[in-house]
Amino acid sequence: MIEPLVSRPAPPAELLVAGARVLDPRAGVDAPLDVLVRGGRIAELAPPGTLAAPPGAERIDGAGRHLLPGFVDPHVHLRTPGQEHKEDLETGTRAAAAGGYVAVLAMPNTDPTVDSAPVLRALREAARGEARVPVGFLASVTRGLAGDGLTEMADLRAAGAVGFTDDGKPVHRAGLLRKALQYQRLCGGVVALHEEDPSLSGAGVMHEGEVSARLGLAGIPSISESTAIARDAAIAGYEDARVHVQHVSARESVAAVAAAKAAGVRISAEACPHHLVLSDEDVLATLDTRLKMNPPLRAPADRAAVIAGLRDGTLDCVATDHAPHAREEKEVPWEEAAMGTTGLETAFAALHTALVLPGVLPLGLVVERMSAGAALFGLPTPRIEVGAPADLVLVDLAAEWEVGEAGYESRSENCCFAGRTLRGRVLATVAAGAVVHRDRTIALQLT
Ligand SMILES: [Zn+2]
Repeated sequence: MIEPLVSRPAPPAELLVAGARVLDPRAGVDAPLDVLVRGGRIAELAPPGTLAAPPGAERIDGAGRHLLPGFVDPHVHLRTPGQEHKEDLETGTRAAAAGGYVAVLAMPNTDPTVDSAPVLRALREAARGEARVPVGFLASVTRGLAGDGLTEMADLRAAGAVGFTDDGKPVHRAGLLRKALQYQRLCGGVVALHEEDPSLSGAGVMHEGEVSARLGLAGIPSISESTAIARDAAIAGYEDARVHVQHVSARESVAAVAAAKAAGVRISAEACPHHLVLSDEDVLATLDTRLKMNPPLRAPADRAAVIAGLRDGTLDCVATDHAPHAREEKEVPWEEAAMGTTGLETAFAALHTALVLPGVLPLGLVVERMSAGAALFGLPTPRIEVGAPADLVLVDLAAEWEVGEAGYESRSENCCFAGRTLRGRVLATVAAGAVVHRDRTIALQLT
């Protein structure tokens, strides 16, 4: 089996993170520790003040900071090939590193679509030269995302596709999805589903509800998402196939995923920071086009249901759906603006500020969900334990910062949290054993 993740080779870290509070819920660790990384692997964990950095190694002071397993994002748009004015492998993975991510999965709705082995091979080759953190690629379910003919799924798997999705669009024809799931049984790989019934979404530009009525804007009803989930879960159950529901936004959708899980369907689901933190009331207050995405920000009751779903595990993981757009696509009236928000650089801080600090979700649960996408797609889960590859993020939970003030690593700036003051800052990221991000406050200190 071909290696699913690729990145630019980087020198393995020789590093001591001294005295940080180490929190890895899966490993059952929550204590101040010295963490020594040798040759890119975690070599030793010991009580604070007991380990010394070997000659030539870097030392980072962890006192008062938290060291967490690195985050994994199963849903990002890196816009390459074809839309490099919005993002590319280099800028997108730099944004990932700045957000504490140690691996990301890129969606295939590029130009050309990642729908054939040659396109996928070229992309993986480019990532070997440009990607700062390991990237995996999903291929499309249908050729050109056109919704009428399946891709050569077996060829794409053999060329390294982690899974399949027509994200940005649903697989509208039930018979075609069924066929894709039958092929999946033979070739493996998760089928990730953007759940939407276009005949219900129509020309909607925001969530259909009280706010859309007040604004006089066409709405996208919750049932556009939830009925599609129910249909696809039934097909997946019938075929005993493995499916993953992307960016769950509505109360009815959380219930549909829960019902499918209760019925034994092999289904997983993700929640996005914007749906966990914001609602259509924020749209009413500002009509800021950075708040326009698909699925849309929904009502506060939907937001509460998505939070509850993440808490009880109905929704398995956090995914950003990082979707860079050019300024001219966003600096237009609401109805015309492109759908999507960037998210890699703000995900952790937004969730920490809006959910952890007020006591809505425990820090450990958020940390666990931030990397839970890895296992869902068959990738190794970052762990802070001796012998594991160093996939780490150092955060300062007390640090306040204003989103956008210092700019972004991403090439685009359509972040839905722009202008907000968040608490919690990523100071350093170690991905696949290499230091890939260092906040300007973390000076390189070699011993
Ligand atoms: Zn989508």
